[in-house]
Amino acid sequence: MKDLPPTGLRYPWAEPPEHGTAIEVAPGVLWMRLPLPMKLDHVNVYALDDGDTWTVIDTGFASKKTKGIWQALMDGPLGGKPIARVIVTHHHPDHVGLAGWLQSDFGAELITTRTAWLFARMLTLDVQEKPTQESLDFYRSAGMDKAIFDQRASERPFNFGDIVAPMPLGYTRIKQGDTITMGGRTWDIHIGNGHAPEHATFWSRDDNLVLSGDQILPSISPNIGVYATEPMADPIGDWLEACERLKLLARDDHLVLGGHKLPFTGLPTRMRQLIDNHHGALARLIDYIDSPKAASECFAPLFKRKIGEGEYGLALVEAVAHLSHLYQEGRASRTRREDGAWVYQRAE
Ligand SMILES: [Zn+2]
Ligand SMILES: [Zn+2]
Repeated sequence: MKDLPPTGLRYPWAEPPEHGTAIEVAPGVLWMRLPLPMKLDHVNVYALDDGDTWTVIDTGFASKKTKGIWQALMDGPLGGKPIARVIVTHHHPDHVGLAGWLQSDFGAELITTRTAWLFARMLTLDVQEKPTQESLDFYRSAGMDKAIFDQRASERPFNFGDIVAPMPLGYTRIKQGDTITMGGRTWDIHIGNGHAPEHATFWSRDDNLVLSGDQILPSISPNIGVYATEPMADPIGDWLEACERLKLLARDDHLVLGGHKLPFTGLPTRMRQLIDNHHGALARLIDYIDSPKAASECFAPLFKRKIGEGEYGLALVEAVAHLSHLYQEGRASRTRREDGAWVYQRAE
């Protein structure tokens, strides 16, 4: 969530493609963009030329607007050639949103990790008109601001299916160590974790391309959160493990095609930054919890800037993730405060 200076990173394209158009970033590899109605206002998607058909990577939110842009892309840069395969890097709605639509309306094959598929399909089917008790308990445990809690408790919650098209049964699984052929290249598949469980990344054996999804992004660090679905998850631990492993693959000439922001080179530097960011945040946090604090009280040392209302939810789940990591490593203890919040304190 933190903006970083682009030290050591280079961005070969200063500007992204306009909606409905594509930039060919390498022979047979198109970079396209779709809008998101949030602070992070776009997602990158890619199309790889397989001769008679295309393989596309990620899809944007399910909305009339995004479908219209996809149609313009199919008629324009994709030249009317069918999309035979859609690869989803991870289960987040900006990536999986229209996978089901590409399957059901265009006959595309969905390829993703098992966890991404199960998570996305489970969440699309999980329709709630009111927040679940588990969600409210989770917010309370995190020490959510009372006004925000009261508002969330009283309104229809965000439903995954609001922005993700129905997903038909059936997909093709990819996993760590697999290879896949697309765009005239063979790609090694390496699985990331932390930002999303079992997040696929693709490393070309034939040139310098890496399709990184949200596991590796330039200039913003991917959000890492704990949710009511798995309150004792340790995504920070998962993240650090994945980054240390992927770092060993990184080369300076890699052209990294990620899910947000601009394609970049300088991947070894970026991997170091992504790892150091969290070690830095954990070090500041451990100093800060010399007296007991709830997750909602730890934004200052973690983010070093003011958190607006639009970012509050993401900031809160990220604060829980960092505190819970310290707790699960034995570097902090926690107790239940009177208001129901877990408060964490540095272990002596
Ligand atoms: Zn994501
Ligand atoms: Zn994303």
